[in-house]
Amino acid sequence: MLRLYNAMTQKKEPVPERAGIYVCGITPYNVAHLGHASLYVFYDVLIRYLHSIGRRTLYVQNVTDIDDDVLKKAKETGKDWRQLGNENTRYFLTQMDAVGNERPDIYCRATDHVPEMIRIIADLIGKSMAYEINGHVYFSVSGFRGFGKLSKLKKNEMLAVANERGNNPDDKNKKNPMDFVLWQRSAEGEPSWDSPWSKGRPGWHIECTAMARKYLKNVAIHGGGGDLAFPHHECEIAQCPAVYHGTIWAHQAMVFYQGRKMSKSLGNLVMVEDLLKKYSVNAVRMAILLHHYREEWEFSEAEMRKAAELGKKLNSIWDMQSGTAPFDSSSYEKDFFALLDDDMQTGAALQALRKLSEAVSSGKNISSAKAFMTRAFNILGIRPEWQGDF
Ligand SMILES: [Zn+2]
Repeated sequence: MLRLYNAMTQKKEPVPERAGIYVCGITPYNVAHLGHASLYVFYDVLIRYLHSIGRRTLYVQNVTDIDDDVLKKAKETGKDWRQLGNENTRYFLTQMDAVGNERPDIYCRATDHVPEMIRIIADLIGKSMAYEINGHVYFSVSGFRGFGKLSKLKKNEMLAVANERGNNPDDKNKKNPMDFVLWQRSAEGEPSWDSPWSKGRPGWHIECTAMARKYLKNVAIHGGGGDLAFPHHECEIAQCPAVYHGTIWAHQAMVFYQGRKMSKSLGNLVMVEDLLKKYSVNAVRMAILLHHYREEWEFSEAEMRKAAELGKKLNSIWDMQSGTAPFDSSSYEKDFFALLDDDMQTGAALQALRKLSEAVSSGKNISSAKAFMTRAFNILGIRPEWQGDF
């Protein structure tokens, strides 16, 4: 039975038979680096694995196409914000295709769901969980008792982290510096939508909640980078607790480069496009999957070489002729599936495949080993026909 670590309960929990999966998507202003690939390759493999064991999933991923960062970038480049968003979204999708990911079942834009957001905000005001002032609407954090239960941060820690991640504690309209924006009056020249409060635009957190509620009703697994746990996911829960009842919060650890977290603001990005000029799709996927999704790791050329070498070793099985000497691959298969069932330990599961590839040899009856390796490759999204690329 597949179990995943839930950041909320801090325990490994079984994934339900039918799982609605929501993974926070990109803000389309300059994207598709290895950090993105690492998150979306992991979810691609999780879903492939669930399907391979007969489970059903509905995978929703959004694009945050209206956001401060998009508007800022549009201003800097002199491009229309919508055109900028569309171009970057297309680029991101082609890069994720290039790295071998299946597309989500539902890929949704925030700007197509503003009426749904307005309905939730109006409902929150009706329940006195949010307040309007000068055309802006804020969620009142003090009215939600469970605030902080996902991130486990103390009150004084919360504000410091939120301020690092986009919160404006000096906003004079707020009753409490931790209160977060549900709706904001648009500034001159900014895009705007009609609402009962002002011509404005939504806050970031309400976007994901509105889309998750619309397509999934209840989220079984919620993904995103670890840096989204607070405040983004914490705020999502506060807005609509029912949507996230029993949700497994599976956060992806950060990828580092040059000693620091890979991020646009630091400029230490390794772009997927550049990696694929130098390495095969298989090697890039393996470099990601050699690390457990909850383990931080640092990108280096040595890591890529290690992945490419492992790929070569695993692929050597396809060149072998099956013979008559008995060979039993069942213990390797058992290990592989047990490791995936235990919180998707892809790195250790790849090592089980390595051991199998070292144990097989021409002359042995390896047809069942080959059949298993084919299944394992399918789960990991690795393709035998790409073997020449390693
Ligand atoms: Zn989100």
